[in-house]
Amino acid sequence: GLTGNKGWTPHWRDPEPRTEYDVVIIGGGGHGLATAYYLAKEHGITNVAVLEKGYLGGGNVGRNTTIVRANYYLPGNSEFYSHSLKLWEGMEQDLNYNAMMSQRGILNLYHNDGQRDAAVRRGNAIINQGDDAELLSRDQVRELAPFLNFDNNRFPIMGGLMQRRAGTARHDAVAWGYARGADMRGVDLIQNCEVTGIDVENGKVVGVQTARGPIRARKVALAAAGRSGQVAAMAGLTLPIESHVLQAFVSEGLKPIVDHVITFAEGHLYISQSDKGGLVFGSYLDFYSSYAARGNLPMVEHTMESFVAMVPAVSKARLLRSWGGIMDMTPDGSPIIDHSPIDGLYLNCGWCYGGFKATPGSGHVYAHLIATDRPHGAATKLKLDRFRSGHGLMDEEGTGAQHN
Ligand code: FAD
Repeated sequence: GLTGNKGWTPHWRDPEPRTEYDVVIIGGGGHGLATAYYLAKEHGITNVAVLEKGYLGGGNVGRNTTIVRANYYLPGNSEFYSHSLKLWEGMEQDLNYNAMMSQRGILNLYHNDGQRDAAVRRGNAIINQGDDAELLSRDQVRELAPFLNFDNNRFPIMGGLMQRRAGTARHDAVAWGYARGADMRGVDLIQNCEVTGIDVENGKVVGVQTARGPIRARKVALAAAGRSGQVAAMAGLTLPIESHVLQAFVSEGLKPIVDHVITFAEGHLYISQSDKGGLVFGSYLDFYSSYAARGNLPMVEHTMESFVAMVPAVSKARLLRSWGGIMDMTPDGSPIIDHSPIDGLYLNCGWCYGGFKATPGSGHVYAHLIATDRPHGAATKLKLDRFRSGHGLMDEEGTGAQHN
């Protein structure tokens, strides 16, 4: 069937790197590509290169479990993810690209009184932010998801917090859509171009060294996700980031059964079903620092145990594949979008488990910061300095299975 696809026009050009750009973005994942797109579209800055060491979309943007939501609790995260979800809702029209955005709703199950109280508090915060949240009873959950294990005495399902505007999107299409949009506006997308050094003169960034030669730049913007610590070290910076592996899994294709994204707070698990029928799921980090994008077996076992406890019927399904991605974890679990201490060098990192849903928002506010040197109104609290001063930390680790 693919023979008919010969001779298609590539979605983007394959330019040779120029010797100089106004802005160089390090990393051709979702955030780097979205930043380039919004720099061109919203700020008219098109003398831009995205430098990607591998191929566009080969990093975490193509490895995640595709969950999109705006159900954070703390100020700082709350307004940022709200901004991002609104951009998701218009993104396909804006890019004229089908990213299979599916607002199928996310249902966070709770299993005890403490989790219910936390769900109520978080639901109120979400509503105050202007987004949607609904507390569902056990019977309402049973109606939506009868396949869940309602007889589990250890992890009883007492109800759930639902956000109906949340859902999933096809992750690589998001990268391709932003890539095409940026390329059409004149941005150079340069693949197989690893950045190996950042040139700083008198406290100001002046360019980068790459596998394809030196490139001068007035501004350099990091968007290297799991490699942020290593890339920042090229400019002599130590970031408050540890890189950890997170695994994901997909089953063989099954008939439609799971209509929503469902998370299971007690065992930490999140599941959804892809349009091809595969159950897509994941749980915790592997919990040791690593740059190897492969997972350990104890976490595979934990994830399968949680899934079978939640949905006993899946014990009969076969696992199709699993993979890992490298997460840039901050101590408070919240991201950084800020100036660095070096003039002209900008930081976008610390996405932890949750940077896919941030893609449009991150690109949008990062482009604003790079273009104007002022933070966007939706991202005033995503500061690097909070880890030095201790002021303004946003510890969202208490939200259990909502991390994804
Ligand atoms: P990436 O796609 O990793 O982009 C960074 C790019 O930088 C890479 O392409 C890399 O090759 C490049 N790079 C690195 N170093 C250099 C260098 N020296 N020179 C040039 N290029 C370089 N988030 C959610 O919101 N929802 C989820 O359901 C979810 N599930 C996840 C499940 C898994 C298994 C994983 C691994 C992640 C998940 N995430 C999720 C997190 C999300 O995928 C990431 O936070 C997000 O994709 C990171 O931003 P990015 O897309 O720009 O990263």
